[in-house]
Amino acid sequence: MPKRKDGPAVDPLQQPLTALPGVGPKLAGKLASRGLFHVQDLWFHLPRQYEDRTTITPVRALQAGVPAQVEGRVEAVERGFRYRPVLRVALGDEGHGTVVLRFFHFRAAQVAQFQPGARVRAFGTPRPGQHGLEIVHPSYRMLDPMADDALAERLDPVYPAIEGVGPASLRRLIGLALDRLPDASVLELLPPALLASLDLPSLRAALLTVHRPPADADLATLSAGTHPAQRRLAMEELLAHHLSLRRQRLAQQAHAAPALRGRALSRRLQAALPFKLTGAQSRVFEQIRVDLAQPRPMLRLVQGDVGSGKTVVAAMAAMLAVEAGRQAALMAPTELLAEQHLANLWAWLEPLGIRVAWLAGKVTGRARTRVLEEVASGEAQVVVGTHALMQQGVVFHDLALAIVDEQHRFGVHQRLALRDKGAGAGMGPDAIVPHQLVMTATPIPRTLAMAAYADLDVSAIDELPPGRTPVQTIVLSAERRPELVERIRAACAEGRQAYWVCTLIDDSDEVVAQAAQSTFEGLSLQLPELRVGLVHGRMKPAEKQAAMRAFKAGETGLLVATTVIEVGVDVPNASLMIIENAERLGLAQLHQLRGRVGRGSAASNCVLLYQAPLSSLAKQRLETMRQTQDGFVIAEKDLELRGPGELLGTRQTGLAGFRVADLARDADLLPRVQAIGEQLMAEAPDLAGRLVERWVGSAARYAAA
Ligand code: ADP
Ligand code: MG
Repeated sequence: MPKRKDGPAVDPLQQPLTALPGVGPKLAGKLASRGLFHVQDLWFHLPRQYEDRTTITPVRALQAGVPAQVEGRVEAVERGFRYRPVLRVALGDEGHGTVVLRFFHFRAAQVAQFQPGARVRAFGTPRPGQHGLEIVHPSYRMLDPMADDALAERLDPVYPAIEGVGPASLRRLIGLALDRLPDASVLELLPPALLASLDLPSLRAALLTVHRPPADADLATLSAGTHPAQRRLAMEELLAHHLSLRRQRLAQQAHAAPALRGRALSRRLQAALPFKLTGAQSRVFEQIRVDLAQPRPMLRLVQGDVGSGKTVVAAMAAMLAVEAGRQAALMAPTELLAEQHLANLWAWLEPLGIRVAWLAGKVTGRARTRVLEEVASGEAQVVVGTHALMQQGVVFHDLALAIVDEQHRFGVHQRLALRDKGAGAGMGPDAIVPHQLVMTATPIPRTLAMAAYADLDVSAIDELPPGRTPVQTIVLSAERRPELVERIRAACAEGRQAYWVCTLIDDSDEVVAQAAQSTFEGLSLQLPELRVGLVHGRMKPAEKQAAMRAFKAGETGLLVATTVIEVGVDVPNASLMIIENAERLGLAQLHQLRGRVGRGSAASNCVLLYQAPLSSLAKQRLETMRQTQDGFVIAEKDLELRGPGELLGTRQTGLAGFRVADLARDADLLPRVQAIGEQLMAEAPDLAGRLVERWVGSAARYAAA
């Protein structure tokens, strides 16, 4: 065990974990694999919940789902084997209540402990069992009649587990680390004046409260994460993440980018379009144009609800690159969507004499070689494709604008990967990087956008093209499926078209494809007068394309599809959509799907078929869909129901995995976080850096790379 050396005082914030007694290289290694390197990191390894062992709950007062501590005598023990070994221990207390402790993994020594009459104190969450309530795998302790069996004086923190480190040793380590908490002069990174204005506890007080909550602390607020101590920590954590994104942005903007100033080509495109841009489209294009004229890389997110017309704005932006003799790339998350972009761009740009190239995973062999040559020589002025665009071996001649559609499907890393395809691919400080335009149809609540995209400027296309009619949404039990066949018949008889979307709980392509196949066969039989099409992920690209083309051309009246049509598919004549098993889809996905109808002038309907019984969450989702078509309202609701991690698809963006903060719960802190962030960046960039290091750590190290 390394001894603490006397010598120059170590910065307490930089003390390695091995400074703690009992932490050798092996344990330090396990902690390091979870990103814990310094004593300070243990202070910020925060409890994810609390257990209240300060009281005993009478067995009769136990409630299913509510964690509690009980105490009683063993009344009966049963060891059995049903599918797997099981040990059941009936525990009775003085109030004549009985609760069953159930174990699936146990050792002989454990069985031997549970002698009838022995006293046991157990903690866990009761749930309904065969005979009244039972607690599966409680934590428990045999009570020694001789020994002191005092109750806990504090709420017990439960820490996120670390592999290879038991909960007890982790608690001990954190205790040791806390004993070394320095005073505010060292611990606080926020300037005192700022702190005073916050009206929140000091960091030291906050940390001590969350790690060692006093017995009289409010368990309900602590469990809900709304205790002032947690708010203090959440504020600092949000601030750190915000600063991390801001720094990332600064690092980006330190690079040079080609200034794109020609306006003739975008004007020509605009004049040739079969429609007039909406006010929102013009405004957003103007914002992009101003950005692109700068010799600094644009970093802009365009948010626009499904159908708001983002593609054409992207195409106009691409014209600025082309006019400057450079290239633009448009990347989409699915092949179907990319193909659709290709079709649009082709139709718009080929008449202007612009060469549009196509690159997807399925483009192979000689065709691929040819495309790669065109991309490398610059002959291809606009390149449309999927992830394939980011692969090694794809070398652009002079990429000036990287457009990423449906950003929520990609992580930050992928966005940056496309950027790195820019002219000066070596990312030195003098590198020239392309401008980045990111488009998303997943509207993000404003507060969240501020936090999630602090590295991007945000524009909103908040207006739909004229002539759209609202979609009426109906929620129906699957039993009423037969009625829908008649509905489809009627709609198609009027020259309208319909989608039938198949979803399954088992998302494997294969199973969903089979379901789509059999739905296709069934509906084809029931609607003999109709031509029915089919699209699913298992089909060859050419088959998919053919099916989409036939539907777009109106040759097929009904299209049976899997959720592959979720993004981007655009057939204005389709006015009826039926979504099977709608209860299994999230709000964002339902909203995306529904956005495929209501694109023409006919009144449209969306039928959400569900399989009873509905969970309460599913019920709320379907009800939300029925009530509103406003993407922002849906996003707010989604945030409320699911939490932000999933909403943003941000497992990779560094936004998920907060330790204390919860973007939904703590959203009210964000405006303050933003203001403080600005101030710190301007007045104390070194403190900003240390805050990022403290809370974001390795993720930030990646970002700075
Ligand atoms: P999204 O924002 O969902 O990507 P798209 O770019 O696919 O939307 O546009 C949806 C449809 O609206 C397309 O058929 C597109 O050609 C059309 N469109 C776009 N802008 C306008 C406009 N200003 N007026 C009429 N139709 C438009
Ligand atoms: Mg789109």
